Amino acid sequence: MDIQAAVLREPHKPFSIEALDLEDPGPHEVRVKIAATGLCHTDLVVRDGLMPAPYPIVVGHEGAGTVAAVGAHVTKVKPGDTVVLSYLSCGTCRCCVSGQSSYCVNILPLNFSGQRPDGTTPLRDKTGARVHGMFFSQSSFATYALASERNVVPVPDAPDIAQLGPLGCGLLTGAGAVFNVLKPGPGANMVVYGVGGVGLSAIMAARSLGVTNIIAVDRHSNRLEKALELGAAHAIDASTTDVLEAVLKLTKGGADTALETTGVPAVLRTAVDGLAMPGTVGFVGVAAPGAEVKLDMPSLMFGRRIIGIVEGDAVPDILIPHLVDLYRDGRFPIDAITTTYPLDAINQAAHDSETGKVIKPLLQP
Ligand SMILES: [Zn+2]
Ligand SMILES: [Zn+2]
Repeated sequence: MDIQAAVLREPHKPFSIEALDLEDPGPHEVRVKIAATGLCHTDLVVRDGLMPAPYPIVVGHEGAGTVAAVGAHVTKVKPGDTVVLSYLSCGTCRCCVSGQSSYCVNILPLNFSGQRPDGTTPLRDKTGARVHGMFFSQSSFATYALASERNVVPVPDAPDIAQLGPLGCGLLTGAGAVFNVLKPGPGANMVVYGVGGVGLSAIMAARSLGVTNIIAVDRHSNRLEKALELGAAHAIDASTTDVLEAVLKLTKGGADTALETTGVPAVLRTAVDGLAMPGTVGFVGVAAPGAEVKLDMPSLMFGRRIIGIVEGDAVPDILIPHLVDLYRDGRFPIDAITTTYPLDAINQAAHDSETGKVIKPLLQP
């Protein structure tokens, strides 16, 4: 079928809106009419050529919408169902079968190769040339996307489907890190380093668990204001303040839990030094290849833990419906951090996200 999509023709170039041809769903595939797709940092990493990816390619991996057609063997959803699209895992490796699908041993080829496991891609341009798709098994910067049955998450009676796409990656990451890994208990405090979409979703999740002393750290004042609005008790402006000193003061000696979302080694170091003993820091920020961090070994011994977290340690079919329930309940206000743009304004949306003007752009085809 004819679709419109934002195409990356080559690295370091802006997105171009093009008419493409999308194949019909294969036996285990689902065609989704996209209501809106969140823009995530990983999409821009591909635009900037910082990750090996084949070009031309359609990215976009926080899609949500309505099922338009299903393949012959699909039983999970039917046309008309509202769905959120998440990452794809294989379902059969040791991580998948033990409920840790975000560490699936096949996660890289399944989400980043720009093609199906059999090497085909469902997208062609109007000259008939191959365009890579299946990015996170969706390539959802488009009017329609083809997903796998396994990475569509039904969200029946979704309150506002156009707001829900970021639940598939960024918001799953922040909220999942809190619910599945950090699990702050009664009286615990939490420091969040970097309060973009991921950090703010961690704050919303911690608030929903009743955590009262949440401390937000960032360099953008509008993000810090948003963090306070969403329930952080304190905001530290890293551009003007000694962060470690402020964290130790506001936590009365160190954080019980912390989340590092920036991927900057020096920030992870601060997060570790700012921990209580014992204390746990999770990190979700993607560091540059080869990045190393230096740590104080003697203080680590006193029960300090550092844990890397992918996609919030979450099984999308379990956590996403829960987050939708919290949203419906007013306890996970996704719409407080999103800004909607038409799909053809994607380059503007990317610019506004990079300058910190907006937190989570939503592209609406
Ligand atoms: Zn797997
Ligand atoms: Zn993402």
